[in-house]
Amino acid sequence: MTAEKITMQDHQLNTPKEPIIPFIAGDGIGPEIWEAAQSVFDEAVKKACKGKRKVSWQPLLAGETAFKQTGEWLPQETLDTLKANLVAIKGPLTTPIGKGHRSINVTLRQKLDLYACFRPVKYYEGSPSPVKEPQNVDIDVFRENTEDIYAGIDVESGTAEANKLQQLLKDNGQLEKVRFPETTNYAIKPISEEGSKRIVHAAIDYAFKHNLGHVTLVHKGNIMKKTEGSFKKWGYEEAEKYGDRVFTMKTYDEIKDKKGQEVADDALTAAEYAGRLVINDVITDNFFQQSLLHPENFDVVVTMNLNGDYISDALAAQVGGIGISPGGNINYESGRAIFEATHGTAPQFAGQNKLNPTSLILSGAMMFDYIGWHEVAQLIQDAIGVAIRGKHVTLDFAKQLPGSELLSTSEYGNFIVKTIDFS
Ligand code: NAD
Repeated sequence: MTAEKITMQDHQLNTPKEPIIPFIAGDGIGPEIWEAAQSVFDEAVKKACKGKRKVSWQPLLAGETAFKQTGEWLPQETLDTLKANLVAIKGPLTTPIGKGHRSINVTLRQKLDLYACFRPVKYYEGSPSPVKEPQNVDIDVFRENTEDIYAGIDVESGTAEANKLQQLLKDNGQLEKVRFPETTNYAIKPISEEGSKRIVHAAIDYAFKHNLGHVTLVHKGNIMKKTEGSFKKWGYEEAEKYGDRVFTMKTYDEIKDKKGQEVADDALTAAEYAGRLVINDVITDNFFQQSLLHPENFDVVVTMNLNGDYISDALAAQVGGIGISPGGNINYESGRAIFEATHGTAPQFAGQNKLNPTSLILSGAMMFDYIGWHEVAQLIQDAIGVAIRGKHVTLDFAKQLPGSELLSTSEYGNFIVKTIDFS
């Protein structure tokens, strides 16, 4: 076998027998969770592919570790390697504090145009949960990753930019809407038609591919009409491109207005019965309520950047917390993707070998699914299921699960490796 790059041809990923996969171990607890995760990945590949495939891991520097060694938070070499290789995986990175510094994660997502942040939120039997029926949570969140208030267009009161912006507002007769103009800072929220439609498209495609019945657009369009309201409008427009394969709640409302609720309800039931995808929309605050009360009503959720950030952490809390929630940042057109632990660097625990590597391990399972090594992904997910059901867990879970076996990060990694080996 020779190590080769993963490529994209005719919208399909082409994964060689020994793909080169760059990884960033990360800062804080990053190196210890990466070590545990890599041993799990290698064991699962060995077991599933019987020596006929393997990963050629390529270490890359970023974050605080990179800054200490090179003086740069995101060295050009790291960016070039990520550009040259389609698929990568990373641990958490410290966000530099101080003027002019942006989150490296946000920078990577924007520079590589990884527009879809995909976070599947699923319950593993036995996970600690604050809700009564966590098994009803099985929601795939698609969060737009390149726009919204995260674009980084922030201005501080009193600066030339803020003054110019205020002048513009004044010229348009809008400054009176600003309650305290003397001390107000501003941020701009760009939401585009292209950006909205491509994330909704990704969510709908995913739902079709996985036979899921509902896609829900989550927005606060009742207040932010031109941004979040347009996201909803463009989302429905994108859904309409799929023709008869989808039934939109917009169609439902039209039927209701013309022929009454009963006829609309019948049309909705018939659509569901015929296996058509149903697209609806929910206002964000209502989503938080509904996803606690009736999580079973949601399959795929698609939303903008800030909503998606809040929603994915809130849903994760229902199924065990950020220690086990995986994620991927993907551009479905270029094929580029970086999979990552969704939590941060937990610096107060760094070097203590205590925290949970599951978020990174399950992000790796998502990555193997993405490159077409589904059997590897399944082995990893099954082994995590065995560990949690049997209460062989790290500190975060052990504190909430009486009678559990408390494992360190590395012991937990070894437990998963052994479980894969015996499966
Ligand atoms: P954090 O996620 O690092 O930690 C918050 C708390 O979550 C921790 O105190 C710990 O109790 C828990 N936690 C985190 N990871 C865990 C794990 N693997 N297992 C069990 N429990 C875990 O958030 P923070 O303290 O706000 O941020 C610390 C640093 O991480 C900051 O520099 C921040 O910018 C950065 N950050 C990076 C990412 C990323 O790289 N994707 C994401 C969020 C925060």
